[in-house]
Amino acid sequence: MKTLDIIVPFYNEEECIEKLLTRLLALKEVLSETLDVNFILVDDGSSDNSVLFVNNYAEKHKCIKLITFTRNFGQDIAVTAGLDYSTGDYVAIIDSDLQDPPELIPAMYEKLAEGYDIVYAKRIERKSETLFKKLTAYGFYRVINLLSEIKMPPDTGNFRIMTAKVRKTVNAMKEHQRFLRGLIAWSGFKSVPYYYNRDEREAGKTKYSALKMFKLALTGIFSLSYRLLDLVWGIAGLLIILSFVAAIYNPVISAILFCSALQIAAIGLVGMYIAGISQDTKARPLYVIDKVINLN
Ligand code: UDP
Ligand code: MG
Repeated sequence: MKTLDIIVPFYNEEECIEKLLTRLLALKEVLSETLDVNFILVDDGSSDNSVLFVNNYAEKHKCIKLITFTRNFGQDIAVTAGLDYSTGDYVAIIDSDLQDPPELIPAMYEKLAEGYDIVYAKRIERKSETLFKKLTAYGFYRVINLLSEIKMPPDTGNFRIMTAKVRKTVNAMKEHQRFLRGLIAWSGFKSVPYYYNRDEREAGKTKYSALKMFKLALTGIFSLSYRLLDLVWGIAGLLIILSFVAAIYNPVISAILFCSALQIAAIGLVGMYIAGISQDTKARPLYVIDKVINLN
């Protein structure tokens, strides 16, 4: 029988995790005729009781694997660890707060079996999410696709099912500025959306502050695109033209201020890319695992 690993990153989700595990185990039953399902839960440095809950389940169910990090490394790094440990013919990624209903996975698998390598869940509706979240999410995908040569499907999170081919390709990408959806899109494998209504968070609060979301957006842009640099060259060109025009009126001080602001912006931008390069040349491990349960 073919095997499916379901990867679940979690960070302080004690209020959701038991409900999640119950629904995951029920899903295993539903799929028992078709697929041998295992779960790889990755604790992204939780400080609450969620690891304790998962541990209890892992003791009773060998299909529940647990990886714990020494500290918080971020959602996409947690998923990466799960992908590294996965050996399945298929692999699915799902959030731990039950916003992505696990019950959709059989239908997503059926779609995959039609001959795709990636079936990604695309949101039709975001129930009771704040207007701010909806707007920033909407803007994020549009901006990233405007700036990037690699087109990412909009309104799509990590919730998806993929073949081992995709997993191996993504695992081979060792970069630190890691925006998983972008890397998967970059892989270029045949993909298709599966439309769904995103549920409300089961309990607890979002783990993404506005600042964390902004950083994720920047990671996405910098990992996928160098177009921002083109923009800088464009502005520089425009400025030269402007400086010719300004010469007629001689607004010396404003021109100087404008130029130095631009230089600082350009240096900052170049600096971000260099920061990315220096991170990769350091070749630090992506994450540090504390322990591993039910896994070899
Ligand atoms: N998450 C994680 N590490 C983090 C932040 C979030 O593993 O640093 C997990 C979190 O537990 C959840 C998923 O990533 O399973 C999505 O996070 P969240 O629901 O807070 O994001 P939102 O749905 O609000 O975008
Ligand atoms: Mg959520």
